Amino acid sequence: MFTIAEIEDDAGPWEILRRILAYPEMVELKELLDSDVTLAILIRTGEWNEGGRGILGTCSIPTVSGKLRPLFEHMLEDWIGYFPDFLITLNADFWEEANPITREALLFHEAKHAGHAKDQFGSPRFHRETGRPITCIVPHDLEEFNAVVSRYGAWKGDVQSFLDAVNPSQKPHSALLEGHGENFPHIEARTRERAPAPTGEPYGEETFQRRSNHPYQE
Ligand SMILES: [Zn+2]
Repeated sequence: MFTIAEIEDDAGPWEILRRILAYPEMVELKELLDSDVTLAILIRTGEWNEGGRGILGTCSIPTVSGKLRPLFEHMLEDWIGYFPDFLITLNADFWEEANPITREALLFHEAKHAGHAKDQFGSPRFHRETGRPITCIVPHDLEEFNAVVSRYGAWKGDVQSFLDAVNPSQKPHSALLEGHGENFPHIEARTRERAPAPTGEPYGEETFQRRSNHPYQE
């Protein structure tokens, strides 16, 4: 079952999203949201496994193919109150058990998937007619097996970049921790999502209506 994340929840996803949008790594998503791109956050209850692994969360560009697309778009917009450009879904069981830092890490992870599509020269792309940013799902920096790294180490650049990114202190850097000095367990949250949506224009401009209820635009 799916529920829409409550906006007024102090420890809820929206409050955490507001916090992480101040981080320099989130500048692209912040610019998207400031330019009226929208995002919705859902909580999913019940078993959530794919390929034998538990799923902690996903980030998608909501779309379906085929004749039911207009119906899907109508129902989603009607239910949420606006049509979201990005849909972040969080695993309710994980969310309830997670500490504040782990919650932030999961939301940070999903939010990093929400990107602005680039052209072949790396410039951000916009819809020709509407001028709105073209969104995309950003893939993970590293897709690799433990066994390969165990046997061959940093055999290619993205593995080395991943290892370089490991914080030697093993302590999270979060605005939540500033001035507190609390110790949170080392984050071991692992997430896995559905196959990323292709970069490009997954749906037409007719879906970009009625965004006034978007919680980000206060
Ligand atoms: Zn991911």
